Formats: sequence, C-alpha cells, structure tokens
Amino acid sequence: MNRTATDWLAAIRNLDYDRPLRIMNVCGGHERSISVAGLRAVLPGNVELVPGPGCPVCICPEEDVYEAMQLALHEDVTLVAFGDMLRVPVNVPKREPRSLEQAKAAGADIRPIASPIDAVRIAEADPDRTVVFFAAGFETTTAPVAAMLAEGAPDNLFVLLSGRLTWPAVAMLLDSGTPGFDALIAPGHVSTVMGPEEWEFVVDKHDIPAAVAGFTPDSLLAAMHSVLRQLRDNRHFLDNCYPQVVRPGGNPEARRQMNEVMEVVDANWRGIGIIPQSGYALREAYAAHDARKRFRSYADASRKRVGEMPPGCDCAKVVLGKIYPNQCRLYGAACTPRKPIGPCMVSDEGACRIWWSAGHRENEWEGRKKGVSHG
Ligand code: SF4
Repeated sequence: MNRTATDWLAAIRNLDYDRPLRIMNVCGGHERSISVAGLRAVLPGNVELVPGPGCPVCICPEEDVYEAMQLALHEDVTLVAFGDMLRVPVNVPKREPRSLEQAKAAGADIRPIASPIDAVRIAEADPDRTVVFFAAGFETTTAPVAAMLAEGAPDNLFVLLSGRLTWPAVAMLLDSGTPGFDALIAPGHVSTVMGPEEWEFVVDKHDIPAAVAGFTPDSLLAAMHSVLRQLRDNRHFLDNCYPQVVRPGGNPEARRQMNEVMEVVDANWRGIGIIPQSGYALREAYAAHDARKRFRSYADASRKRVGEMPPGCDCAKVVLGKIYPNQCRLYGAACTPRKPIGPCMVSDEGACRIWWSAGHRENEWEGRKKGVSHG
C-alpha cells in the first residue's frame, strides 16, 4: 500500500531522532512543493530544510544574459528564450535596457517560448529570418535542446547555449569542507535524465546520506524519512524514492544525444564563479548552429566577474544555502516579484520568489536589526 504524506510524517516523528540537522534540496520544484505544502512547519523542530542550487535562471551568468540582450539589440535576429529569463536584471547604467524584457521594449525582436519545439516552429515559419535560441537551463532543459539539434534543426536556427549540470555545484559545496548540510534530497527530474548514479559521489566520497525524490509532499517526505533513518542508523546510501520515474542509467537516448551534441566544460555561475566541468558547450560538429560562432561575441570581458549580483542582492548566498531568502536585507522591501532586484525573485524556481509566493512575508534581517526574532 502506498504511504500518504501523513503516514510519512508520522514515520519521521517515530524515528525519534533529535539531533539538529540540515537537509538540502537542489531543485526549485522541490523547494516549491516544500514551501507550498508548508512542510517546514510540520517537521520536527530539529530538522531544517535548506534550499540549494536548484534554479537555472538564478545562476545563469550575467555575461550570458547581457550577451543575449546585446545580440538581440544589435543584430537583425529574432531572439527566443524561456519566459522567466526575460525579466532577469543585469547591472548596467540606468539609461540602458536592464533585461531582455526591456531590450524588447527598446525595439529588439525578443519572444518568450516554452520549449525547443516553439523555437523550431518560429524558425520554420520564416526561413529567411535568423532565429537565436538563448538556451539557459540545467540538464532537464539542455537535453531537449540537444535532441532538437541531433534530430535536425532548421538552418536559420542558432543556439546561444548556457546549459549547466547540477551535481558539480553540490560537489563544490561538499569539497569546501563547510557544505552547510547533513543530508541531500537529490532532484528527481535531473535523475530521470542522467540517472540516480550521478549522486552516488555524495555518499561514496563524502559519506552523506542522499535520496532522490519526486515532487509531491509524500515523495519528498519519503526521501526525508530515508535520509533521517540513514543518519540515525549511521548507514548511509543513495536511496531512490522516485523509482516509478527514475531508472538506473536515466534516459540513455537523452544522454547519448547530449553527448553527441555537447561537451562538458568549466562554466561560470552567477555570483559564484567558475565551477569545473559544470557547463555545456556545443561540439564542433554543431558549429553551424552555434550562435557564438555565427555572431561576433557580445560577451563583455568586464562582466566575467564573480560579484555580479545587483548591489545588495544576496542571491548567490541563497543559491548556495548559506542564508534563507528572508535573511536578505532586500527581501520583501526593495525586492518583490513585481519589482525583482535579483534573479532569485524572478524565476518560478528561485527560492526568493517561491518563499514570497508561499506567503513568507517577514524579513528576518529587518527583524534582527530591530531585535525581533521570527524564529
Ligand atoms: S530577495 Fe531579491 S535581492 Fe535578496 S537575494 Fe533574493 S533576489 Fe536577491
């Protein structure tokens, strides 16, 4: 019989494990389910749930957003991008467009899309028009882009790729010696593509319990129960708590296409810096569709810097689980979903936006300043 969320919650309480511990998730979808379902409020008080590097829009380097904007503004092209990339702000003088949305308002032909199929349709509808697909995302987004190219994209479609792998950011945290978490909830969707084995290093190299979870509260609570039990019993392993979807080896065809079309390279993460072997670049065989080869680069070397969040924005710390969203001084004050300052408040997968949408209105930083605890 399948256990419900209530069953898993009772099982967690029955573990009777009262050591303080922090469980990190690395998926915006996980953080949304946790926040919307209010799981933090019902778990035992010793368990902290930490949102980690699970938002591809948040970590897309400013230089890539800037490059896409400049390309759209200065070349005779249609630029297409996933909708939430359009509002991501970059640091430029006030007189210049600060986002793709503002570049569109300034006259650039920029269109939101929901999938690579939309990009193909737009390119096929006007074969004489050059279409550039600004493709930013993690493995689950990058795999369909690879499939689009492997299966044959229109000649007039070019890809400005900003793909990233999720696991190297977790590896970087663990290698730092101060990861800030005791157990990991691994992302179900990424594991569907890449295979759960991608997360074995968390246990094998770092002896930290890990469990792959789906996106419903019962699946997340099952994964939390697994890692808590592993900690209690001091027997650590990688548990697949999403077996109905996540299979050993992931999706072999998707992985084959990604390997055919792209190579893994060192890559910049916004506000974090270069993480080794954490990004994708198009292979030479697909140079004919590479926007970076077709157009002169609009990537400005001065933008390739680590401290590239807007002034006052703590998004990089939020992404790395170093602070909670409402510990940023701008949360809910200068920065809201209607007037976002940093990318974490723009994207549906950004922890700041998720927390705000789930009703977290108190700003802990402000509270601390006034001597008020929001405990
Ligand atoms: S609340 Fe806004 S400014 Fe603060 S970290 Fe989040 S996105 Fe950045």
